[in-house]
Amino acid sequence: MGQSRWARMFHAAAQAPTFAGSIRAHRQARGILGNPALTVYDNPRSFLMCVYNRDRALCHRLDVTDAPRLDRCQPSCANVARTDHHADQLLQHAQVLERQAAFEALPGPLAERLARRADQLRELADRHELDRIHTQEPTA
Ligand code: SF4
Repeated sequence: MGQSRWARMFHAAAQAPTFAGSIRAHRQARGILGNPALTVYDNPRSFLMCVYNRDRALCHRLDVTDAPRLDRCQPSCANVARTDHHADQLLQHAQVLERQAAFEALPGPLAERLARRADQLRELADRHELDRIHTQEPTA
């Protein structure tokens, strides 16, 4: 099927909205990936998991397909789910872009573009921090 080991396809995408948004940890990610009621794709290039629900997909509004267009992934899509690991990756990549943008020999417009992209990645990481689903703390 040409997918990574994370990419496991299941049926009943109608339940996907239950898990749309940020999630906290790998354990929760495994729970999603192990849920036979969900269709889940790993999208490492966009630092996220796609919990696929065709009706909510922003990557192929006009296509008649039962698979997401991971190469056209939109950060504002309701099918996006991120773990803390994804958020860490966003921040690491933002740092790389910021270092590149600070390189003196870089033309101004390119440096600005890299800096803007870094800002966008940081915003996505911040959004994850605000939106993530917290596991219930044990009560004393
Ligand atoms: S836009 Fe991204 S998250 Fe949304 S359905 Fe397409 S690939 Fe999945």
